[in-house]
Amino acid sequence: MISTLTKSIYINGQWREVNSAKTQTIYNPATLEAITEIAYGGQEETKEAIDAASQAFPNWSGMTGRERSRILYKAAELMRKDAKRLGEILTTEQGKPLKEAIGEVKGAAGFLLWYAEEASRGYGEWIPSSTKSKRLLVIPKPIGVVAAITPWNFPSSMITRKLGPALAAGCTTVLKPSPETPLSAIEIVKIFEEAGMPPGVVNLVTGDAQEIGKEMLTNKEVKLITFTGSTAVGKYLMREASDTVKKVSLELGGHAPIIAFDDADLDKATTLAVASKFRNNGQTCICANRLYVHEAIADEFTALLKEKVEKLKIGLGLEENTDLGPLISEQALEKFNSHLDDALAKGAELVTGGSQWKGDLPGYFCPPTIVKNATDEMKVMREETFAPLFPIQTFTNEDEVIRKANDTDYGLAAYIFTENTSRTLRVSEKLDYGMIGVNDVFPSVPEAPFGGIKQSGNSKEGGHYGMDEFLEKKLISIGIE
Ligand code: NAP
Repeated sequence: MISTLTKSIYINGQWREVNSAKTQTIYNPATLEAITEIAYGGQEETKEAIDAASQAFPNWSGMTGRERSRILYKAAELMRKDAKRLGEILTTEQGKPLKEAIGEVKGAAGFLLWYAEEASRGYGEWIPSSTKSKRLLVIPKPIGVVAAITPWNFPSSMITRKLGPALAAGCTTVLKPSPETPLSAIEIVKIFEEAGMPPGVVNLVTGDAQEIGKEMLTNKEVKLITFTGSTAVGKYLMREASDTVKKVSLELGGHAPIIAFDDADLDKATTLAVASKFRNNGQTCICANRLYVHEAIADEFTALLKEKVEKLKIGLGLEENTDLGPLISEQALEKFNSHLDDALAKGAELVTGGSQWKGDLPGYFCPPTIVKNATDEMKVMREETFAPLFPIQTFTNEDEVIRKANDTDYGLAAYIFTENTSRTLRVSEKLDYGMIGVNDVFPSVPEAPFGGIKQSGNSKEGGHYGMDEFLEKKLISIGIE
């Protein structure tokens, strides 16, 4: 236990007692030990948080970009300096290896830094009028109070990827983090506090998702809900937001294909495939879910992949040299097992791994697993598995593999491994995904737009595109003599 009760509700610059006595226990997914209790808030606290954000909006949006920028710079700096401690907290609540957790915290600080720079670049437009008696100006205005809802798989960077641009644009915010990983969110809010964020600009509510969500959805003061999480919850939020015609920015699930062509550099390609699939133990929205390998290189590719996967060390994230931590929950472990059982029952052949992990930790562990001879009917080839299960299917024809890769409602990220420039462009243009990695599996960087198409989302986070989500365009039409 880190402590018995961690204050987790922050409204108008105050760490608050919750209005009810209800609390929620946070567990370490590797050891199943209780870490701490947090407050379990609901609709009442969410309304108070939205009121605070609404009252803080005129002052925060009225500051210059430079003034807001200074606070974001400070927050980024504090976060980078404290990356090791913050990484340890992240690993304890989420399970990922410490090296990945520290990397995530530094990446999260990178979003704050990028948007500290963007804060003074909210440009408008001067439109040449078609008549001499008019002048047309478009000015960007911060959209207003923003409600941010985030998942557990990147408990730090998913928050700053939203709050960074929202705050830079001049919006005030209410954050609801995942109940699995609220401690990283609490630390981020403390950092904003230390950086000098005025009261009410950043508010935090933990607790009942239905109640918090209901208030965020129905309260007219909330002008935008920015959500990262599953497609199912994203669809629900989009439906329910229609009554108040709120904008809903969605970053949803993925089902990324990797296509390894016969001209790929096998050593590089297999290293990248391992990095993509097994980062965060397969619990990454953009991680590869299925692997298509050209028949001519399939045996060599599979053998190399097996060799590299078998070197991955499973264990406690806080221990040095750990490559794979636990899954986040029992439910996640059940999904891994159900996708593996389904694949084996439908004719897949186990290359390495399997359902049983032979370690002695009580948490939600499973071995990194590869199956070959995967077919299109298998669940693992159709749904987001979100676990370290890698199915391999071979192909011979470029058009056919593109058709298969596109045959899904998801459209977040896709990867191709090839050394051929014409193929790179031809295939990248045809893949229906928001992001294409060519011999690269890490497209999420502060300066570039991250986001899906189809049912993987409708927005972009990162780069100047990320700030556009939080800015409305207002036309000023001036008649002159
Ligand atoms: P989730 O179950 O959809 O939950 C995400 C967040 O939404 C949590 O904070 C959750 O809180 C909250 N939530 C659920 N129902 C709600 C409601 N009715 N009103 C308000 N909030 C509600 O997703 P997850 O399991 O945490 O995350 C994994 C998913 O996120 C995967 O599908 C992954 O691909 C996706 N993801 C996408 C991206 C991207 O950038 N596209 C990045 C990371 C993850 P409770 O848990 O309390 O219900």
